[in-house]
Amino acid sequence: MDKKTLSMDEKRVFAEERANELKAEIRPYLEARETIPTGMKLVKEQQQQKEKILELLGGTEENWKDWHWQVKNRFTTVEKLSRILNLTDKEKEEIENVGSRYRWAASPYYVSLMDPNDPNCPVRRQSIPSAQELKDVLGEDDPMGEEFTSPVPSITRRYPDRLIIKVTNQCAMYCRHCQRRRNIGEVDTGTPKDQLQKALDYIKAHSEIRDVLLTGGDAFMLNEERLDWILGELDKIDHVEVKRLGSRTPVTAPQRITPALCKVLEKHHPVYVNTHFNNPKEVTPEAAEACDRLTRAGVPIGNQAVLLKGINNDPHVMKKLNQELLKIRVRPYYIFHAKAVSGTTHFITKVEEGINIMEQLRGRTSGLAIPTYIINAPKGYGKTPMLPEYLISSRKDFIKIRTWEGRVMDYPNTEEV
Ligand code: SF4
Repeated sequence: MDKKTLSMDEKRVFAEERANELKAEIRPYLEARETIPTGMKLVKEQQQQKEKILELLGGTEENWKDWHWQVKNRFTTVEKLSRILNLTDKEKEEIENVGSRYRWAASPYYVSLMDPNDPNCPVRRQSIPSAQELKDVLGEDDPMGEEFTSPVPSITRRYPDRLIIKVTNQCAMYCRHCQRRRNIGEVDTGTPKDQLQKALDYIKAHSEIRDVLLTGGDAFMLNEERLDWILGELDKIDHVEVKRLGSRTPVTAPQRITPALCKVLEKHHPVYVNTHFNNPKEVTPEAAEACDRLTRAGVPIGNQAVLLKGINNDPHVMKKLNQELLKIRVRPYYIFHAKAVSGTTHFITKVEEGINIMEQLRGRTSGLAIPTYIINAPKGYGKTPMLPEYLISSRKDFIKIRTWEGRVMDYPNTEEV
């Protein structure tokens, strides 16, 4: 049949058939979506947990909104945690054991997102120590060789035009999958000012550096004054075009995103924030409010999820996460393949699982909701994208492509089309 000779009505029949095909394609996700817990659906449950926590800590509504209170009152003992979560004796023992080797701490806010009865709750698993951490024999402390890419203290440089300054080792919550857990000691410390000054001097002396990422730990654990100073110093360096800050506080302690912080960031544009949501349960009204404040201050927010077994290694969960993020104006940016860091390898999935997730995203949701799946190459050799294969073969003047639905087609490959 020659499609060019069809009438408008006949074309509509085709379009309708195609629309039905597309609707059938999305049906499994629509069904699964209803069963995926999200922070926006669990408001009532989280409010109940919050009230229990405030009572336990003797806090007020005002305290809850204060990020200093959130950090000061982090849960760090089994005794306190067991008053909020239902823990078995075995779980209590495990947390004690693992906690004596690998530090743990969770803000009251983040604890309020945990399911008190489900040890597999994705928020709980990211934060509460598990016996699997001590069974790990494959992990290394520094699999990315960060120590070999640090030309001066506090700086990590893996790329030609950008670098990282680690400004603190502190976080509002210590993630069980953290790639930098070796830096998280018993004591929270900001990088001393003279060391930061040396990092700034390094940048001044290297005119090819146009993009600087402040991270840690969590860059928003610095107070406004220190952030204002360091961003101001970077502003004075002509060749620094862009500043980025890495912070998980929009997820773990959104109270940190205060008007005062936003005022500081606004002074130093262009400023970008990279954050780290891993599961739709973390996208709550409080997180939405924090992201709204940042975006109103002109700060674009990108999300760097980590692909984690039992937390988001499911195409439907990852799709829902990315769609929830777009609703709060956070752009899904990367999905990192989890690295073999000591005590975290139980979170690692096969790479094929990540590629399948990318395959299930492409075409099945809008491009804005599709991040890049990345493996960080060993020894600090940088981000390497992992992509499903869409180019099947290439001949002189045409290529064979595979569409998102798996249709194989020829496509002209000449300079004059
Ligand atoms: S917030 Fe980032 S740096 Fe801090 S513990 Fe989590 S992953 Fe590590």
